Amino acid sequence: MNPTGGALRGTDPLYGDGTFGATRRRKNGTPYSHEGQDYLATLGQDVVAVTAGVVSRIGFPYINNTHFKYVEITTASKVRVRHFYVDPASGIVVGAPVVAGTVIGTYQSLQSKLPGIPEHVHIEVIVGGVAVDPRQFIP
Ligand SMILES: [Zn+2]
Repeated sequence: MNPTGGALRGTDPLYGDGTFGATRRRKNGTPYSHEGQDYLATLGQDVVAVTAGVVSRIGFPYINNTHFKYVEITTASKVRVRHFYVDPASGIVVGAPVVAGTVIGTYQSLQSKLPGIPEHVHIEVIVGGVAVDPRQFIP
């Protein structure tokens, strides 16, 4: 299920492309791959679980920054799905079961971290330790 109901994030001049596998560059120029798929979001909106499973982690996307969070849900078949930039709702704690569409929290604006970026939720799907294209799972 789409986590925000928004469109796929396309390309913008400041930050590039939100598509899974898009090439990014570190400040020193080293290329790397965008390991998630971005979905446009609006300020303060609810974010829903893209799949059923159990909350397996509340994590932090950025080193030395505890404001931004992600919610990881592990499915019955051990696929890990991470929903980035979400302030978890009450009850969304490790061990809590969810179904697809359960509200897991509120979208956190990225503007303080990445000024000018289109607001979006970043979804990562990890199968056997490897990031795969979330669009396979989110029609
Ligand atoms: Zn992303």
